[in-house]
Amino acid sequence: MKVIWNNEIVERSEVKIDMEDRGYQFADGIYDVVRAYNGEFFTLNEHVDRLFSSAEKIDLVLPFTKEELKQLLTKLIEVNNIDIGNIYMQLTRGIGIPRNHSYPDPELVPSVFTATTTIVPRDQEKMDRGMSAFTVPDMRWLRCDIKSISLLGNIMAKHEAHKKGGDEAILHRDGVVTECSSSNVWMIKDNTIYTHPDGNLVLPGVTKIMLLKVAREAGLSVKEEAFTIEDLKKADEVFASSTTMEAMPITFIDGNPVGQGKRGSVVERLQQLYVDAVEEQCGK
Ligand code: PMP
Repeated sequence: MKVIWNNEIVERSEVKIDMEDRGYQFADGIYDVVRAYNGEFFTLNEHVDRLFSSAEKIDLVLPFTKEELKQLLTKLIEVNNIDIGNIYMQLTRGIGIPRNHSYPDPELVPSVFTATTTIVPRDQEKMDRGMSAFTVPDMRWLRCDIKSISLLGNIMAKHEAHKKGGDEAILHRDGVVTECSSSNVWMIKDNTIYTHPDGNLVLPGVTKIMLLKVAREAGLSVKEEAFTIEDLKKADEVFASSTTMEAMPITFIDGNPVGQGKRGSVVERLQQLYVDAVEEQCGK
């Protein structure tokens, strides 16, 4: 399998990452995940923009322009024959010797970029059935807008949910819902769709941008407004959104059914609008 290593496409076995890479030692790096359908990227510009914006927020320098990166990624899915799948990319601050918290001089220490691909079909059965979630306090830092590879807070929250038999953790700060451990979260009450506004407490999800756009174009009522755990438990429908899950119904929260405990009609509509947007960009 081929991967991207810095500016090149190489065999995975050729990649050499130093054991003192700051990504490995400090989780000093950022990442992004973009999806391809029918061998074409969906919302590639938005993902590349977010990668560059995360990099800028921590003074990381990418070894190429946005255009060069898009060309490399396009070549990668072609050589790996990715019809439908996920492309993971990450950038770290490179090797810092001796180990030292301060950023090394980027002129002397180049950042390290890698990208890999995985074939992953759409999980239609789960999208029809929905998933279960558990509420967990949001213990993460205050720059959740940066797509950092430092994910312990997210991982620990998801593990809490998994231990209870759930699929996802819904995070809250003092009862105010922020997002899920690896997705944005939404609720529908009286035909209005709510999700937390962008800012430092949530990741600006690309799927979120797309769902907001298609929902507004379809004339649905949408509010980027925070809501509480109490609101969530009285919601008609709840769902999570991410590049890999699209719009995924959450049908049980803390063991109790949301509405009828089945996918609701608004989520189903949003799923269809999202699929239409994918097909418009990537073909059927
Ligand atoms: N929030 C978090 C914490 C995430 O990890 C993700 C998935 N990367 C999202 C939201 C959704 O982002 P996107 O729609 O861009 O995949």
